Amino acid sequence: MRSFAVAQARSWIATAAAWIEANATQLSELDAAIGDGDHGANMTRGMHAVAAKIGAEFPDLGALFKTVGMTLLSTVGGASGPLYGGFFLAVAKPCAGLASIESEAWADALAAGAQDIARRGKAQPGDKTMLDAMLPALEALRAAGPELAAATAAAAVAARKGAEATTPLLARKGRASYLGERSIGHQDPGATSCALLFEALAEACH
Ligand code: ADP
Ligand code: MG
Repeated sequence: MRSFAVAQARSWIATAAAWIEANATQLSELDAAIGDGDHGANMTRGMHAVAAKIGAEFPDLGALFKTVGMTLLSTVGGASGPLYGGFFLAVAKPCAGLASIESEAWADALAAGAQDIARRGKAQPGDKTMLDAMLPALEALRAAGPELAAATAAAAVAARKGAEATTPLLARKGRASYLGERSIGHQDPGATSCALLFEALAEACH
């Protein structure tokens, strides 16, 4: 499979919603250690709302991802709502009017999403945020070539490794940054939900 179509997109989002919900307790526990403990609940609320909307037929990927982004913006809250919402809105733009997208253009669309997170959140790699899972995932996706099953599998592995690698980092953005040195030794919740997103993408493409 060298292109990503509406069917895969719906499967991605439905799987991501299920896996975020299944891991909500872990996500909130991670957030309780270095934030306010709401990340699992925030993401579950948003992905529930999204899953309810993507049951409808969508003519193209742009319309689908726009709906995902707008729904996350209006339901997730916290820091992660605008960041994930903005991510999907940015992914939607290059997908406008397309029922499917070639793998290279799909990688570009996801990269535009990551850039939107970096722009809104003003985070750099290594700041202990969701970007520390997403950026390595996108690098692996591109490096693995145009076959989407292999490329998204590599991206999922890289995202999970990136999330785990946030543990020794000092948080420089978001609530966790208020803890300073005490943020060291805990895995970032947003990087962990981001790993689940890429694992769900691999599942939808295999
Ligand atoms: P809040 O911190 O407002 O309670 P959440 O708990 O839902 O929001 O999300 C926290 C996650 O958001 C963090 O683990 C981190 O990955 C991500 N995050 C916070 N601030 C930023 C930022 N400026 N840039 C990128 N990601 C961020
Ligand atoms: Mg929180």
